[in-house]
Amino acid sequence: MNKNTAINSSFSIQSLVRNNIFNMQSYSSARDEFKEFETNMVFLDANENPFSNGYNRYPDPQQKLLKTILAQQKKVSINQILLGNGSDEVLDLLFRAFCEPNQDNVITLPPTYGMYGVLADLNAIENRRVLLTTDFEPNVEEILKNVSKNTKIIFLCSPNNPTGNSFSDERILYLLRNFNGLVVLDEAYIDFSSKASWLSELNDFPNLVITQTLSKAYGLAGLRVGILYALEEIVEILNKIKPPYNLNTSSQEIAMKKLTQNTLVAQIKKIISERESLLKSLQEVNCIEQVFASDTNFILIRVDDANLRYNQLIQAGIVVRNRSNQPLCENCLRITIGTKEENVQLITTLKSL
Ligand SMILES: *Cc1c(COP(=O)(O)O)cnc(C)c1O
Repeated sequence: MNKNTAINSSFSIQSLVRNNIFNMQSYSSARDEFKEFETNMVFLDANENPFSNGYNRYPDPQQKLLKTILAQQKKVSINQILLGNGSDEVLDLLFRAFCEPNQDNVITLPPTYGMYGVLADLNAIENRRVLLTTDFEPNVEEILKNVSKNTKIIFLCSPNNPTGNSFSDERILYLLRNFNGLVVLDEAYIDFSSKASWLSELNDFPNLVITQTLSKAYGLAGLRVGILYALEEIVEILNKIKPPYNLNTSSQEIAMKKLTQNTLVAQIKKIISERESLLKSLQEVNCIEQVFASDTNFILIRVDDANLRYNQLIQAGIVVRNRSNQPLCENCLRITIGTKEENVQLITTLKSL
């Protein structure tokens, strides 16, 4: 990116954040007041049970060790990272910090991840839906037309769930430059993508917030670890309002172990190669009318009758996601890439229908 033209000069965090959040004091936990809990002290400050069992102490509220590993691997500063109990928690924190209930609005781009809309409803925030174009790209003119002075966040999911494509860099760039609120870029599937993450651009765009997760490529959906990367000032605000011990001790420990294992790259490669062969085999199935390109670990297909095929697959013991009630996804099913054996079973079943 051309750094000279990148800065969105009329952007100000202070004017975006809710007044009560700006003014509030955060909860100060025992572990906030005495931070060096790795050192060999007698801890009589947090009303913990003193008998060691691996989990008798509260977890580090700032997840320093885990963030150190992430900062190194992702080439960002520790202060640009916020961790949550899944992406869902960090997304909710964004609403709570920046969106005034019954007053502000956000823009989402259906068909996309359902949680943005659910969190908008939960937080009493108007959700302005601007459909993707028919080739599943953000309709930037229409998005900017829908921006009002109360629009705080635009949610971009790239690669997008459930369509599977990555958005064009030009369109993402255009929104970053022309919108003075936060542009949240959900990169849950970035490790499966042919495109690079926008993380390297973080310092050039003060309004860019990137979310990632350990739930997909890292194989830790059950652990609930979501990651947010943003300007220090944004992370500081979110830190102030997050539940103090939002990432439990075992999640932090297992996440650190997984991040430093080198089996991950091979596994991702395997999933991508399975995706490529599945993309080909799906073309040969009679009831499938369209197979969409995928930059993710799933494939969206359009069939002749989604409800019928969905139920037939269930009968055969295979569960896919029926996305046919989403806009632009009429008769569409979303299929996660499984193991080689699972994918063979899927294709055999589909061909027998
Ligand atoms: C799966 C997914 C997530 C992950 O959410 P977690 O709460 O981290 O498990 C986030 N965003 C999108 C678009 C997803 O599909």
